[in-house]
Amino acid sequence: MLKTDVKIYQNYINGVWLDSLSGETFESVNPADSNDTVAKFQASNKEDVEKAIDSASTAFATWVQTPISKRAAILTKAAAILEERADELALELTREEGKPLGASKKEVSRSADTLRFYAVEGQTLTGETFPNDDPKMKVSTVREPLGVISVITPWNFPISIPARKIAPALITGNTVVFKPSSETPLIALRLVEALDEAGLPPGVLNFVTGHSSYIGASIVRHPAIRGVTFTGSTGAGESIHRSVSLTTRTQMELGGKNPLIVMEDADLEKAAKLTVNGGFSLSGQACTGTSRVIVLSSVKEAFITELVNQVKNLKIGSGMESGAVIGPLANSKQLEKILQYIQIGQEEGADLVYGGKQLTISPYDSGYFVEPAVFTNVNPTMRIAQEEIFGPVVSVIEVQSYEEAISIANDTEYGLSASIVTNNNSYIERFVNDIQSGTVKVNRTTTGNLINAPFGGLKKSSTSTFRESGRAGLDFFTQTKTVYIGY
Ligand code: NAD
Repeated sequence: MLKTDVKIYQNYINGVWLDSLSGETFESVNPADSNDTVAKFQASNKEDVEKAIDSASTAFATWVQTPISKRAAILTKAAAILEERADELALELTREEGKPLGASKKEVSRSADTLRFYAVEGQTLTGETFPNDDPKMKVSTVREPLGVISVITPWNFPISIPARKIAPALITGNTVVFKPSSETPLIALRLVEALDEAGLPPGVLNFVTGHSSYIGASIVRHPAIRGVTFTGSTGAGESIHRSVSLTTRTQMELGGKNPLIVMEDADLEKAAKLTVNGGFSLSGQACTGTSRVIVLSSVKEAFITELVNQVKNLKIGSGMESGAVIGPLANSKQLEKILQYIQIGQEEGADLVYGGKQLTISPYDSGYFVEPAVFTNVNPTMRIAQEEIFGPVVSVIEVQSYEEAISIANDTEYGLSASIVTNNNSYIERFVNDIQSGTVKVNRTTTGNLINAPFGGLKKSSTSTFRESGRAGLDFFTQTKTVYIGY
């Protein structure tokens, strides 16, 4: 396609699709083929963001009064629209972000399910009543929306993460200004279109694209913003969290360095499969992806042999290609970063026993492809064992005992997800108690979480205040008043 034929998409402010006042655009590019420009988007400025926040502030007064059944009906209708378009949206998601088509289909349908979940769950919000000594007084709590919420999201789940923030925000009566990742604005815009077509009134949801260096501060520090729900890197989340005013709540879902412990009784074929699925699916670009495998010494050699055998069979290719498990990395910055960590690991003295090379010949030459990498003899203090890599790189660390395994598993600044492979009940019970992690799995991948269960991390993986997903996902978007009524 000629560059001049590339479609330009607009911001969505107060129910109208608009060009940015900056007059500038930026491109979203296919990571499997960097010659393929997916579309152009508005490179918005501070004034665009202010217009979006003003429109959300004005719309709040009526949206909060809108009957909850009507709000729920809009979410339900948007879910149906997403489902109707699931096949074409999945193609767009894969073209823009790179994940295999099957994973894109699942993500689109999960987004529809999330809208439907909150359409129902949001209608069951309750307060409490409190007994007291005055027979002529009733004491109770009521919950109300916060006001205008900033929703800021990453590129790795570019529609399902926005859905799990926007749906609970809207059902509880808040209005939203949504800034998606500049790597994946198209699929994010499709969610906004679905909600618009489902009948969302003007101003209730506003969509502004652009680079965080230009609009990041205005979207989180504006005095009308009452909550910032952010998913992304720990560095960015921490700086936003520190920068907002006392009247702005934050919910930060951040990085991970997720361990999988393989005990001496583990089924090694299964342990290797869990490592492959948790560490290499989505090319390791999942916040809950397995990045450290902590293995008991007695089974280490056999485990590594099995792991490398399984990794060798993973098909690398464009997400559009049938059977491809390892797609491209999401962008050129990701590619550079992953290659750098592979070099760091080697310089630190770990053994790269498989993969780790960039693929540069056809059909990979115009995409961001790297072979899945397995490091062994990794020392827990090495950078590859401590820092979030966010790519297809797994580090195997050998230990002598359960106690040593737990101590190493807990020895990072993160605490998002962790798993153990064992059938020993004593290990299972101890692990559930000992591990410092918001998601704890046994004989399952570190990746994956349910729509109806709370999700979030400990330590630097999340703000410890509010969880996402499930019923708990509604809490961030409401505040409590305690009411004393005397008769
Ligand atoms: P990122 O932090 O670079 O960007 C995330 C979003 O924040 C983007 O929209 C970006 O434009 C915006 N942003 C960045 N700095 C900002 C600032 N100062 N002010 C306002 N907005 C700002 O992250 P990414 O590269 O898009 O995503 C990868 C990261 O996301 C990884 O660290 C991964 O672990 C994390 N992640 C966490 C979860 C979770 O639920 N815990 C889920 C997915 C991804």
